Amino acid sequence: MADQFDFVVIGAGSGGLAAAQRAAEYGAKVAIVESGLLGGTCVNVGCVPKKVMWNAADIADGLEDAAEYGFRLVAGEPHDWPLLKSKRDAYVARLNGIYASNLAKRHIEVVQGRASFVNGRTVEVAGRTLTAPHILIAVGGRPMLPDIPGAELGITSDEFFELEKRPDRVAVVGSGYIAVELTSIFAGLGAKATLVLRGHKALKDFDSMLGEAMLKIMRDEGIEVATNAWPFALERTSTGALDLEVRDGRKLTPFDAVVWAIGRVPAVEDLGLERAGVALDAYGFIMTDKYQVTSAEGIYAVGDVTGRAQLTPVAIAAGRRLSDRLFGGQPDRYLDYDNVPTVVFGHPPIGTVGLTEEAARAKYGDEEVTVFRSGFVPMYHALTTRKPRTDMKLVTVGPEKRVVGVHVIGPGADEMMQGFAVAVRMGATKRDFDDTVAIHPTSAEELVTMR
Ligand code: FAD
Ligand code: NDP
Repeated sequence: MADQFDFVVIGAGSGGLAAAQRAAEYGAKVAIVESGLLGGTCVNVGCVPKKVMWNAADIADGLEDAAEYGFRLVAGEPHDWPLLKSKRDAYVARLNGIYASNLAKRHIEVVQGRASFVNGRTVEVAGRTLTAPHILIAVGGRPMLPDIPGAELGITSDEFFELEKRPDRVAVVGSGYIAVELTSIFAGLGAKATLVLRGHKALKDFDSMLGEAMLKIMRDEGIEVATNAWPFALERTSTGALDLEVRDGRKLTPFDAVVWAIGRVPAVEDLGLERAGVALDAYGFIMTDKYQVTSAEGIYAVGDVTGRAQLTPVAIAAGRRLSDRLFGGQPDRYLDYDNVPTVVFGHPPIGTVGLTEEAARAKYGDEEVTVFRSGFVPMYHALTTRKPRTDMKLVTVGPEKRVVGVHVIGPGADEMMQGFAVAVRMGATKRDFDDTVAIHPTSAEELVTMR
């Protein structure tokens, strides 16, 4: 006998939990299927434990600067990674528990196991069959490994969170969010870190100012950046260290750990999507329309598995809007994927919203685009020997100079961007920025005083 629900959600990560809870609030009978831990990637092996590690690296930066602010710290024990890990794990376990009780409060049935489709209305999980007129796929993704000999000797972001101690010498391969974030964390916590780029740029989907500035700061802070280093093979030497051979024959070595941070793939392989008629795009992501509907009626997808803006708040927003539409009597609700703000938690952080300068020029033409830039050493560093610059850019279009992009790298950029994202979304112009009274002394004030 099949168990009948109004809504079956596959995957209890950011998107699935948000959709399930919103649907239940409207009175729908909901089941959520999860093969791992409640909370999915973000809570268990993503945003949350990553931010804890970022905080630790941030404290390390502060400790480095402390003497120049007059603190006489006596050099003591090295950083206690195992303590940090156990406190971080306990925090994540607490969150898992909170998710479980939130689901119970809303009478959402949690079904543990891997779901696969029997047909377009039915999924099978651990010997049970669940049917519903509406089924949501929110299974997220997993880290990609390169197809090279010895790839399995490296680890991914998932295993980064299992490290019981800090590797002393570490290579992080990749050029995106995860590569930049983990490299900064390792270096901040005292490892000898190498960022391995197959090209010569980092963060190439971002405004070019940001990647260039990040690489300069990394190099200035002693991080090695290996460029044009396309991985070819990974080997363990007789000393136990890892050698990374790259295509031009160079050997980058020795490392105690090599981390692959080269992108993520959708977790769709054993879902039986063909039995439900759900189509994938050329990269294996589930195709959806603007209402998150897949190629099969009554089956929806949100979050990383759709390959669009793989960010927790995006998965949450898409999931909630879907449930508003299906169960909340709001037939036109959908997520607009434009102007999604985002932060790369490097040291320093990057905050960005809207179009890059390059994208704005391609979209509107050079004559329509006016760019304002500011670069300075923030006041905090007036007293420190290290002098990382903050860089900011406003991208505007048209004679009214509507702000279509805000890009910042520097301390505080992470917390700055949420408010500026509201302004961009509301169509603010450069004049609106200029007419806003500055907050002094901050770095953010530069964004409203640029000439
Ligand atoms: P997930 O959260 O991945 O959830 C999918 C769930 O589905 C998982 O729990 C999985 O076990 C389950 N599942 C898979 N297949 C099945 C199946 N067949 N049956 C049952 N269950 C199944 N985003 C940010 O916004 N800010 C950040 O700072 C940030 N940091 C990140 C750091 C790292 C290291 C990583 C890897 C990601 C980070 N992200 C961050 C991205 C963010 O974690 C994802 O965008 C978000 O988790 C996507 O949510 P989701 O619901 O699509 O999938
Ligand atoms: P990204 O897609 O951001 O970056 C991966 C990059 O690695 C590619 O763009 C490519 O860059 C490079 N690459 C690909 N293949 C290889 C290879 N074989 N060898 C060397 N380099 C390679 O993926 P991430 O894994 O960093 O992160 C996945 C997603 O998770 C992100 O896109 C983001 O949406 C999300 N995330 C969000 C965070 C946040 O919000 N702060 C933090 C972490 C993740 P190139 O072509 O330049 O070489």
